[in-house]
Amino acid sequence: MLRRMRILITNDDGIHAPGIAILARVASRLGDVTVVAPDTERSGSSHAITLFRPLRLRPAGENWYACDGTPTDCVYLALNQLEVKPDIVLSGVNPGPNLAHDVLYSGTVAGALEGAHWGVPAVALSHCSGNEELLGELEAKLLPDLLDRVIPTAIELKMALNVNIPPADRAPFGGLRVTRLGERYYSNEVYERNDPRGRMYYWIGGSRVTMPDIEGSDCNAIKERFVSVTPLADDLTRSSAMGPLHEGLLNKLATPFHTR
Ligand code: MN
Repeated sequence: MLRRMRILITNDDGIHAPGIAILARVASRLGDVTVVAPDTERSGSSHAITLFRPLRLRPAGENWYACDGTPTDCVYLALNQLEVKPDIVLSGVNPGPNLAHDVLYSGTVAGALEGAHWGVPAVALSHCSGNEELLGELEAKLLPDLLDRVIPTAIELKMALNVNIPPADRAPFGGLRVTRLGERYYSNEVYERNDPRGRMYYWIGGSRVTMPDIEGSDCNAIKERFVSVTPLADDLTRSSAMGPLHEGLLNKLATPFHTR
């Protein structure tokens, strides 16, 4: 008899975020769910790992654990301390997109990539509406079918997938599209303020966004109301630059490196 699938869930919005609750509810129809998630909001934490202070895991329900670290810490502890041995890691559902360069800042994506780093297929899920009230509709309508499709595919192909779901408050979904990361540029605001003690502080992170029209990109898919599914590599090597770099460094230098 086939055993039930084991599913590890994390996020970067904290264990009390609505998005992780709906993901755990929908995923539990497909397998046994363990949740290990940050105890507070850790959005924008990227792939940070906590190395210079202790980490604590606090039980937060049956097979739920809150960790005072990052999404990466959560997955690391789940795999290497709690010994969850999942068939898949799910991360999200993030309220707001993780498109294009967002994946480098995203704790949601890092949670999935930490799973992939340990050899576990993974899916990061982001809802491109920041409106958490729309998550109820997502749970009822789209998420069950989406997980039915992406989880077996990620496991079969041993992949880390970045899934972005268009907002559900306008036209109907166009369907599902396999994409590459596009380009997304935020405005570069820096807000300068005084704190109550009269010292200056800064608040960074622009809110106005431009997304160039790039065919086949995740950004275009979302603009055209498709669910975007991007396979992620954990190798940041720019392979196309290897030849020119070799040429530049080793063949064209005026002074050969080894003669210094
Ligand atoms: Mn987040």
